[in-house]
Amino acid sequence: KIRVRYAPSPTGHLHIGNARTALFNYLFARHYKGKFIIRIEDTDTSRNIKDGERSQLENLKWLGLDWDEGPDKPGDYGPYRQSERKAIYLPLIQELIDKDLAYESYETEEELQAQREAQKARGEMPHYEYEYAGMTEDEKQAKIAESKAAGLEPVIRFRVPEHKTYAWDDIVKGKISFDSSTIGGDFVIQKRDGMPTYNFAVVVDDHKMEISHVFRGDDHVANTPKQLMIYEAFGWEPPKFGHMSLIINSETGKKLSKRDESVLQFIEQYRSLGYLPDAMMNFIVLLGWSPVGESEIFNQRELIKMYDEKRLSKSPAAFDGKKLEWINNQYVKAADEDRVMDSALKQLIKAGNIEKGASPERIEWARKLINLYKRQMSYTAQINDMADLFFNGPDEIDEEAKQEMAADTALPVLKAIYAKFEKMEIFDTVEILASIKAVQKETGVKGRALWMPIRIAITHEMHGPELPETIELLGQKTSMSHLKAMID
Ligand code: GLU
Repeated sequence: KIRVRYAPSPTGHLHIGNARTALFNYLFARHYKGKFIIRIEDTDTSRNIKDGERSQLENLKWLGLDWDEGPDKPGDYGPYRQSERKAIYLPLIQELIDKDLAYESYETEEELQAQREAQKARGEMPHYEYEYAGMTEDEKQAKIAESKAAGLEPVIRFRVPEHKTYAWDDIVKGKISFDSSTIGGDFVIQKRDGMPTYNFAVVVDDHKMEISHVFRGDDHVANTPKQLMIYEAFGWEPPKFGHMSLIINSETGKKLSKRDESVLQFIEQYRSLGYLPDAMMNFIVLLGWSPVGESEIFNQRELIKMYDEKRLSKSPAAFDGKKLEWINNQYVKAADEDRVMDSALKQLIKAGNIEKGASPERIEWARKLINLYKRQMSYTAQINDMADLFFNGPDEIDEEAKQEMAADTALPVLKAIYAKFEKMEIFDTVEILASIKAVQKETGVKGRALWMPIRIAITHEMHGPELPETIELLGQKTSMSHLKAMID
């Protein structure tokens, strides 16, 4: 029975790395017709943010993921928030204490800090040293009584077995093993506030929720031996683990960190720029996974069908924003007209370029404008910059364009087209094209020498979308005033 989970901590919004973890678990579940579960890991109460859970789930939905069980979708293995599962964890912690596999530990933060400092000074790796080492049982009990009398709250530590090897066959990385002496000593499974730690709760939940496979980021590799020890202590069978390669910033070659401001890393940021969810999914799936063959554009149905966990890559995945733009542009070009329209229109409104509640004529105009730029857009927020001419007027003419305008034929063409525009009653693409053709006949100027001065005079640019359409959308008055400024 295949059951996998995505287990976000609601300490922030949906990060691209988390979205990738969720997606790989999702595709694995759907490919093998198993179950995909969402579990909220909110035991670190000081780090949870107010809107964390809602925003995580909402962005996963936006990406096109759905799940079979979760905090908003009760199933047989709930509750699906760790903060609501204390009644499940606490008796199990007691069981370990009763078996002497775990114990109360009263050291204060200051004492632990001092221990680590001393170890560092001796050139050792910081690790936990057993508080009661070398004491008789009586001495130990006396020390505990003393700590209790002083009102100290204990943490519960797991007793790490000595000189034992913990190994697993990682689905992504192959064989991995740790000697128990290298993991830093007896670790905390219950904090002073009574909450279990991540390493404990995750084992209990994965076991109780009958999770068969765990795919997660490779920052968790060092946690896995600790978790295996807890499985062993309870005599439970661990799931299979797959630790996915880390993501690096392709510009800097460094590990992508939330502090790296050179790339947008939160799904919400892309969403608000008008990236399309299926394009995002397509981009994310290629971060550390590759299909057979050359093609790189796949929809969700295809991905589910072709997904193969054996093709998860061991080497780091490069995050390349240009590739994301390219993929999104492929989707924009292929998308239904309405989809791009709606998205780009929202962007125009958001930027204040189109008024909220604009008239039907104005909306119709905006739709034509979007169509004009559609094929060039990587994401729809770009419409505001691309069509800046229409909202903020033309930029300064640059040197190269000025050179073009110095041609002998330029001025006669501009004068002739101005005269035509002056007389036009219907100012649309068809009529505009007809007048340019008429000017060609009249002046004998054609091709680039005909079109370029008109384009530069009206838009101040040498490149741009279809000229007659551009002129129509600028309107008769504006186009003529730009021409006039050039002629005078
Ligand atoms: N809550 C953990 C995280 O956000 C999940 C780790 C796991 O999948 O075991 O990193």
